[in-house]
Amino acid sequence: MRILLLGAPGAGKGTQAQKLMADRGLPQISTGDLLRGAVAAGSALGRKAKAAMDAGELVSDEIVLGIIRERLAEGDTANGFILDGFPRNVAQAEALEDVLGEVGQPLDAAILLDVDFDILMKRLTGRRTCSKTGKLLNIHFSPQAELDECIANGGELLQRPDDNEQTIANRLEVYRSQTEPLIEYYRERDKLRVIDAEGEVAAVHKRLLEAVDD
Ligand code: AMP
Repeated sequence: MRILLLGAPGAGKGTQAQKLMADRGLPQISTGDLLRGAVAAGSALGRKAKAAMDAGELVSDEIVLGIIRERLAEGDTANGFILDGFPRNVAQAEALEDVLGEVGQPLDAAILLDVDFDILMKRLTGRRTCSKTGKLLNIHFSPQAELDECIANGGELLQRPDDNEQTIANRLEVYRSQTEPLIEYYRERDKLRVIDAEGEVAAVHKRLLEAVDD
């Protein structure tokens, strides 16, 4: 199964892709994670990407397409994959179509995680990662026991550097102007499935599984 998750920053793509990966044994391919890895490793590519990421802008198509081509060529994608955060504009979607077309493995579905704007803001400003376990948490929505557990185990609740209010506003604007047109792009190609992505993680996951199996 070859699918991609579409949605604004904070729609829950990363959380849901991780759960789907665990359920279906498909690799989650997140260009955001791959880019953060390159930044942390201090590679030339990471140094080029960092300024755009810090500002909430898109990293150049050239860089992103380079890393995605490399990642899709790895063996674990043979039975499918879940793309998370890619494509983010029409040029990237066209490039993806070409890459998958070359190997005769077209995309099965683009699933839009639909979330109201006010909830996106709370999800993004409250988002934290436990330094100990890597678990994604939210100071507004996670059960207090889960937040406490991270601290009790010697972890810290880390905030992504691009989750500050200024950068968040820019990322949402970039989504609206550059990524949202992909909804029409995939609708026209009969690949679009839309799910309500508000509410509990488990409830959204159930809706996602129904959409995947549709
Ligand atoms: P994410 O973790 O998906 O929110 O991505 C974090 C940041 O990485 C974005 O704000 C962009 O700067 C960059 N990024 C991730 N995916 C892409 C992409 N497909 N195209 C361009 N930039 C991207």
